[in-house]
Amino acid sequence: MRITEVTETTTRRAPTFGEPLLGAHMSIAGGVDRAIERGREVGCRTLQIFVRNNMQWASRPLSDQEVRRFDELRAVTGISPIVAHDSYLINLASTDTVCYRKSMRTFREELERCEILGIPCLVTHPGACLTSTEEDGLRRIADSLNELLNRTRGYRIQVCLETAAGQGTNVGYRFEHLARILDRVNQKDRVGICIDTCHIFAAGYDIRTPEGYEQTLESFHRILGIDRVRVIHANDSKKGLGCRVDRHQHIGEGFIGLEGFRCLVNDRRFEHVPKILETPKGRDMKADVENLQLLRSLVLPSPVVKRQTIDE
Ligand code: MN
Ligand code: MN
Ligand code: ZN
Repeated sequence: MRITEVTETTTRRAPTFGEPLLGAHMSIAGGVDRAIERGREVGCRTLQIFVRNNMQWASRPLSDQEVRRFDELRAVTGISPIVAHDSYLINLASTDTVCYRKSMRTFREELERCEILGIPCLVTHPGACLTSTEEDGLRRIADSLNELLNRTRGYRIQVCLETAAGQGTNVGYRFEHLARILDRVNQKDRVGICIDTCHIFAAGYDIRTPEGYEQTLESFHRILGIDRVRVIHANDSKKGLGCRVDRHQHIGEGFIGLEGFRCLVNDRRFEHVPKILETPKGRDMKADVENLQLLRSLVLPSPVVKRQTIDE
């Protein structure tokens, strides 16, 4: 997708300070730096990218020029933070020797790329237990993370475990699963959580109403702690509550609906947490523009604090 195809949106004003920390996942086709240009086009304040082709094990190294452009553009646009998502092929719970080795090597490469790019967190799907029990899978994921964190000691990058929808044999669809992994991790300060609204809803957490939203967050806080949340994926769900199917939908057009997202964008606890769209995209980036506008429109005006003057 080339930038020239979206000239329609290039006249948008730059996001101003004080607006909610909203952004979208952007393609790195043509280089990681191009994702920032795309993000700027649609009015992102924050971004998520893949740091390599996410559907292939092999990838070309980052070029110096690409890294320099990335740094420059980030500084110029003020888009921050820029977070990363790991490759879909990686499975840290794999019991297949070949797949496991490839997963570990690729994940480590991704951590290195993030470090080079100054990316603060790498969001990862915990893993799938194709042949083992969930319990074994969770243990295996934690052990894999321990090894990866050991081998990258001193790196600033944090791994963010993403809440899962529970499709197929994927684990991480209960907050308790992620807590089980965290319990076993040695360098806990290097592991955070990414909440995906579509995934938790598909997993059975009802965030459609203020009451349901609050209950879900209370449970999250009890089990994992709100302060662990580094990234939020703001996606509506194409399927119903508890369906365990991972299908993202445009904001307000799925089964979660606008009320749930109103709770999210007005939640002061997540004021500084990047909220990233992973909603369907068409040939141009119009859908991102519209979803971002819709989310912004849900933000309630902050209460006006009356200035007291000496005269009063
Ligand atoms: Mn994900
Ligand atoms: Mn997600
Ligand atoms: Zn998903």
